[in-house]
Amino acid sequence: MSSILVVDDEPDNFDVIETLLSAQNYQLHYAASGQSAIASLDTFEPDLILLDVMMPGMDGIEVCQRIKAMPQWESVPIIVVTALTTKKDLAQCLTAGADDFISKPVNSLELTARVRSMLRIRQQYQQLATFNARLEATVQQRTAELQTMIFEDGLTALPSRTFLVQKLAELLQSGESSFAVVCLDCDQFKLVNGSFGHAIGDQLLIAIAERLRQHLRPGDVLARMGEDEFCFLLHQIEDAVALEPFIQTILRSFNAPFSLVNCEIFMTACMGISLSNDAAGQSEELLQDADTAMYQAKLRGKGSYQIFDRQMHLAMFNRLMLENDLQRSLEQQEFVLYYQPIVHLQTQKLAGFEALLRWQHPERGMVSPGEFIPCMETTGLIVPVGMLVFKQACQQLRSWQQQGWTEITMSVNLSVRQFACPTLLADIDRVLSETAINPGYLKLEITESAIMDNAEMAIALTKELRSRQIQISIDDFGTGYCSLGYLHHFPVDTLKIDRSFVNQIQAENRNYQVVNTIIALSNQLELAVIAEGIETTQQLEWLQQLGCQFGQGYLFSKPLPAAEIESIYLTKSSEM
Ligand code: C2E
Ligand code: MG
Ligand code: MG
Repeated sequence: MSSILVVDDEPDNFDVIETLLSAQNYQLHYAASGQSAIASLDTFEPDLILLDVMMPGMDGIEVCQRIKAMPQWESVPIIVVTALTTKKDLAQCLTAGADDFISKPVNSLELTARVRSMLRIRQQYQQLATFNARLEATVQQRTAELQTMIFEDGLTALPSRTFLVQKLAELLQSGESSFAVVCLDCDQFKLVNGSFGHAIGDQLLIAIAERLRQHLRPGDVLARMGEDEFCFLLHQIEDAVALEPFIQTILRSFNAPFSLVNCEIFMTACMGISLSNDAAGQSEELLQDADTAMYQAKLRGKGSYQIFDRQMHLAMFNRLMLENDLQRSLEQQEFVLYYQPIVHLQTQKLAGFEALLRWQHPERGMVSPGEFIPCMETTGLIVPVGMLVFKQACQQLRSWQQQGWTEITMSVNLSVRQFACPTLLADIDRVLSETAINPGYLKLEITESAIMDNAEMAIALTKELRSRQIQISIDDFGTGYCSLGYLHHFPVDTLKIDRSFVNQIQAENRNYQVVNTIIALSNQLELAVIAEGIETTQQLEWLQQLGCQFGQGYLFSKPLPAAEIESIYLTKSSEM
C-alpha cells in the first residue's frame, strides 16, 4: 500500500484530502509543519509528498529543497498544493525540486489523477532501482568469480601463475631486494599420465600441492604454474646459503611416496632457482632465469636443483648452437666410427674392438663424444645416431669377418635413451638381417644407470638380446650405483672396469682392492672382465697379477679409423 505524507499547517486541508482520496487504498500521514514533515520521513517512508507552500516557519519551497537534498528521499515525488498559481510562483516551486503541482482549492478529479500518475512513476522508479541493484550484485559476484578463476588454479586451489607474476611485480616495485623464486618441475610426470591415466595424474598433482604447501612460511607464495610445475616465492632470502635448508627440505619431502586413492606413487622433482639480487628487475625475467636454471638441473638428472647465475645464458646459447649443429651434422653425415682394440691381457693378442663415435666437424675438426653425447641424449638425437653407429659397426664387423678375422668381437655402446626406446629390438633385428652377421660376435655396452633406471624392463630387454646371441657388457662399472649383489639377477656377460680405477691403481691401495674385488666377483659369477684405460706397462702388470682377462687402452692403441686398424692389424692377423 502506497504511503502519502500530507504537509499542511491547516489540519482541515488534510481532512479534505483524506476525504477525496478515501476511495483509493492509500495510507495517509499528516505533518503540520515543514520541520515535523522532515522529522517524520524515516517513520512514514512516504512514496509521495503533498506539500503546502504557505506555512509559518519553514515554507514549502524550503521543505522541498531540503528533502530533495537528502539522497535517501530525493527520488520521492513531491506535489506542491498551492493557492499561488502565477507563473513565477510555479517556476519557483519547480526550481526547488517539486515534481508537479495542484492548485487550491483542490479538485477531486485532478487530485486522484495526479497522485495516481506520480505514484506510478515512483513505482517504476523503484522497480528500476531494485533491478539495478540486483544487476550490480550479479556483476560483482561474477567479477569475483572471474578473479578467482584467473588467480587460482582450479585443480589444486593454489594461486595461479597470473597471481604469482602479479605478486612478483608488486614485490619488485616495493623495492624489496631479498627474495627467491623457486620453480619446481616433476620428473617424467608424463609417464604417470601415460601409464596410470589423467585421473591419477590429477590426484598426484593435488597430493604434491598439498605436500609442498606444508613447507610454506607465512607470507610466502606457492603457485601452480602449469601442468606439473609449481613455483615458490620466498621472502627474506639473502643468498643461496640462506635458501639451502629450504631446498633440502623440499627435496626430502619427495622421499616418501604419494598416497592416492588406489595406489602409491613415488615422484621426484627438479628445482630451478633465481635470487632477486641477481635479477635484472622484471618479474618475467626472474621466472625465465629460474627456468634456465631448471633446464640445467634437468640435465643433471632427477631430483636435482640449480641456482641461476649469469653465465648460464651463455651456456644456454652454446647449447642451442650445439643442438642445431648436431641436427645438421646428422643430415650431412659427419659422424664416423673409430675402433679401439680390446686385447687378451695375458697374451696381448687382439680380442675385438669397441666402436666409438666421432664427429668430423667442418670447422672444429674431430670432436670427441664427451662433448656432444650428453646433448644428443637430452634431445633424443642419440636414438637415430645410435642406430647408425650400430649398423655401421655391424657392417664393419662383417667386412672384417669376410677378410678372415673370424674370431674378433665388436662392442657397441648403447645409451640410456636408446635402451629405453620401444623400437630398439625391432631396429636391432632389422640391422641384423640386413647385414647378416653372426650376432654371437656382437657385444652391447650399457651403463649401470640404464639398468637401474628401470630394472624390470632392463632384465626383460637383456634377456631378449641374449636370446639373439648378443652379449651384454656393463660399461664404466663401479661408477654408478649398481650393487654387486644385484648383478646375479641380471643376465650380463662382461664387466668393464672403469678407467678411473685402472688409472690410479697402485700396489695394495684402495683402487687395487676395488679392482681385485670386481675381478673376484666376476670369476664367481662367470663374467668376463675388461679393464679400461690402460696406459702404462705398470698398470698392465698389476692387472695381469690380479687375473684380469681383457684390457683396452692407449698402451695398446688409441681408437683409430677402420682403414688404419686394417693397415696395422689385418696384416698381423695370421699371428692371432
Ligand atoms: P666408453 O664407452 O667408456 O669408452 C671408452 C672411452 O675411453 C673412449 O672415449 C676411449 O677413447 C677412452 N679411452 C680408451 N683408452 C683410454 C686410455 O688409455 N686413456 C684415456 N684417457 N682414455 C681412454 P671416447 O671415445 O671419448 O668416448 C667417451 C664415451 O662416449 C664412451 O665411453 C661412451 O660412453 C660414449 N660413446 C662413444 N661412442 C658412443 C656411441 O656410439 N654411442 C653411445 N651411446 N655412446 C658412445
Ligand atoms: Mg664403452
Ligand atoms: Mg667405459
